[in-house]
Amino acid sequence: MTAAPRPDSIAAETAYILARLGVPAAAFAEGAITVRSPISGEVIGRVAEAPAAEMSAAVGRAHAAYLAWRKVPAPKRGELVRLFGEELRAHKTDLGRLVTLEVGKIVSEGLGEVQEMIDICDFAVGLSRQLYGLTIATERPSHRMMETWHPVGVVGIISAFNFPVAVWSWNAALALVAGDACVWKPSEKTPLTALATQALFEAAAKKAGAPEGLSQLVIGGRAAGEALVDDPRVPVVSATGSTAMGRQVGPRVAARFGRSILELGGNNAGIVCPSADLDLVVRGVAFAAMGTAGQRCTTLRRLFVHDSVYDALVPRLKKAYGSVKVGDPREAGVLVGPLIDIRSFEAMQSALDRARAAGGTVHGGERARDDLGADARYVRPALVEMPTQAEIVCHETFAPILYVMRWSSFEDVLALHNGVPQGLSSSIFTRDLGEAERFLSVEGSDCGIANVNIGPSGAEIGGAFGGEKETGGGRESGSDAWKAYMRRATNTINYGRDLPLAQGVTFDV
Ligand code: NAD
Repeated sequence: MTAAPRPDSIAAETAYILARLGVPAAAFAEGAITVRSPISGEVIGRVAEAPAAEMSAAVGRAHAAYLAWRKVPAPKRGELVRLFGEELRAHKTDLGRLVTLEVGKIVSEGLGEVQEMIDICDFAVGLSRQLYGLTIATERPSHRMMETWHPVGVVGIISAFNFPVAVWSWNAALALVAGDACVWKPSEKTPLTALATQALFEAAAKKAGAPEGLSQLVIGGRAAGEALVDDPRVPVVSATGSTAMGRQVGPRVAARFGRSILELGGNNAGIVCPSADLDLVVRGVAFAAMGTAGQRCTTLRRLFVHDSVYDALVPRLKKAYGSVKVGDPREAGVLVGPLIDIRSFEAMQSALDRARAAGGTVHGGERARDDLGADARYVRPALVEMPTQAEIVCHETFAPILYVMRWSSFEDVLALHNGVPQGLSSSIFTRDLGEAERFLSVEGSDCGIANVNIGPSGAEIGGAFGGEKETGGGRESGSDAWKAYMRRATNTINYGRDLPLAQGVTFDV
């Protein structure tokens, strides 16, 4: 490892970190994909797009590795994931910094993303000894019935820009202990963190003596994703990104009877009740709505505030919005970094125009820190007071916009809460047990994640993560999400000398 000081320019520091993580300079020196740091808009790498035939070749290599890997006992497969977790621990600072440079996350969030990878590795190592099947009471004498979980084969992983490495690890760590091989198609906006993660994985695979080719990385855009989606040797495709993407991927995978795990857009809400602790609400809302510059699938986007506390809460929120520090995510004290690119800024401005046209009052939302680069886009987070849940509020705009609306009837606010096409994450702020329990009940939130007195953003790896409706229905990470990466066989064993046939049929031959 080199002892040279960290260079000053973003491009030079990126190259320096990639070298430390074991990525050869040739891998990001030229190619059709231009990688820009959202911090300044400057080019920090050029990466070649894989040729059209490469996806098929990568799936072939992964499948060959799977044929060997499936025979390795699961706890030994866990040892590979444990060693990968060790690589991540050893390189957490560098990989976290690379996330900051390539995606623009503030330093603690870049590091936090790598910590999530470490946590899922720990979870998967434990899981490697807990891939349990049931033994089931059988109606036949001298028989035993049980279920066995087997690996499925090659798992395709398509990831989004905003969690460029954690989402891959949520899938890969489980798939690997399950006995599968993986093929990863990362976002074309974030190939550098993918290259670095792949290098760390390969170092662990070498130490573990794992079969070669167990985890393949194929860099490209939509066409590469489609080639993965259409490959019949890939029984499970886990795709994270926009609902528009999932609308394409879901039917294509289903058409060949593959399974998909879809993790798509959210439009997450919070309900503030009369009894809520407003100090807690201000902190919870500020983090959930402005954190990661509003670029989390679980970002808080809609806030319903009870009439009786609206005038006490909303001015405090406006103050928090007005004072939050926007700027270079590497600087201490900055809480809101840049948007990923200019298109994202334009989408935000267009959403704010539509909100104004629908009667909304917009606070903030304007471009900020234009001194940081002509091609960089920083914004003041926007708080928008809306008279109704207008059409624009029902869309996910992947930027820091919080629509605030009043409510007076609990029935009505539940209906509004659920009255959007997405169903990822949700929260209620209340000290009233009845309200909290109703929100969590079948009549309450229709989302995959429903919280009480904690905002909707973020997730712990121990729980199953995902959402309903246009969010896609997939579950990843903790709980029993591992089952999606395996196939179940029901086994019946006759240890007697008779053969009792079903439905009392006698078959004399
Ligand atoms: P995106 O949909 O533009 O791209 C996501 C990935 O899909 C990329 O790798 C892209 O190349 C690939 N892709 C696009 N079209 C494809 C197609 N037709 N076939 C195969 N692959 C295709 O999303 P993005 O802008 O990178 O990420 C932001 C979106 O992701 C937001 O909507 C956000 O809510 C969502 N997201 C969801 C979760 C979740 O867990 N629910 C997590 C993170 C991000």
